[in-house]
Amino acid sequence: MPGQDGWVVVGVDNGGTANNGTVLDAEGHFLIDRMAEIPSYVREGPDKAVQALVDSVEHALGIVDLPRSAVRAVGLDTPGPATAAGVLSSRGATNFANPEWWGYDIRSALEERLGLPVVYNNDGNAAALYAHHTQYGAESGQHSSVAAIVGTGLGGGVVEAGRVIGGAAGMAGELGHVPIPMDGLLEHGQPLPACNCGQLGDVESVASLTGIEKNLLPYWLTRFEGHELGQGVPPGKAAKMVRRYGEDADKLALKIFEQQAMALGRLFTIAANFTDPGTYFVGGGVVEAAPHFRDWFLGRVREHSTLRAEQAQAARFALVPDLDMAGARGSAVAARDWLLHG
Ligand SMILES: [Zn+2]
Repeated sequence: MPGQDGWVVVGVDNGGTANNGTVLDAEGHFLIDRMAEIPSYVREGPDKAVQALVDSVEHALGIVDLPRSAVRAVGLDTPGPATAAGVLSSRGATNFANPEWWGYDIRSALEERLGLPVVYNNDGNAAALYAHHTQYGAESGQHSSVAAIVGTGLGGGVVEAGRVIGGAAGMAGELGHVPIPMDGLLEHGQPLPACNCGQLGDVESVASLTGIEKNLLPYWLTRFEGHELGQGVPPGKAAKMVRRYGEDADKLALKIFEQQAMALGRLFTIAANFTDPGTYFVGGGVVEAAPHFRDWFLGRVREHSTLRAEQAQAARFALVPDLDMAGARGSAVAARDWLLHG
């Protein structure tokens, strides 16, 4: 039940196939402890998809048996690229390929359709905010963190004093496209990894599923001739299978994850010298891996992060919790923060 103030916020995480919704009360307690998904219809264009977001709000409220009048604000997150104000990229995006979406102001559209304030974040930033909130709770405002989430790309965000850093143009926290030194990360003769953004040797070119498919796996297959993943498995499928091989301590897979851990460590080394965060979060598929492998990976990231002695004492390394719910929950946290602190 909602707290004594009686109001709640709803968080909605918009994905390529489904929206997940959650409800957060005024005191900061989540009233839904599982996924609450309905189809997102993003491929059918804005009209149907914005209605699906409204339906997702209603679906979440239905689960906790609350009327729309109990809601003070709604938090929304979508995959990027989008501005901090929730205007989708004018050049389209993987999930928003339909030209009707290009430059579309999804935040305002939902706000209008709902008649309620809508607070927007991209999905990486929402997950980063949720991880921060889970770690620090009521003291979130006194702490900082950085979250790197390894998925198809490399998402995440930077949280300072409990707030996601948006930036002047809304482009802060694009951690995947931070260039990192490749010296000592690549093997002798290993080609410089290329990123979809056009750069060579940024974090995403190594620490992402796309990086495995396009850069790491093709190289390492030349070093492990006869490996099963090189025997006619389509590259996209093979890239996704590398994690399971890693769990089984396959040598090729461990080389790939070692390079990913090194890339994240180098990113965190930059973060240490930039915002000196209290917690370094790692998220993504690796969070859902077998515990022994997940812990090995997090340990390797930590070892590759160069911190000063004082920082090593003060900092924590942790996993982004409840990854499948992190977007909706982080969006709800952002909406509640906006109501309480403006
Ligand atoms: Zn890039």
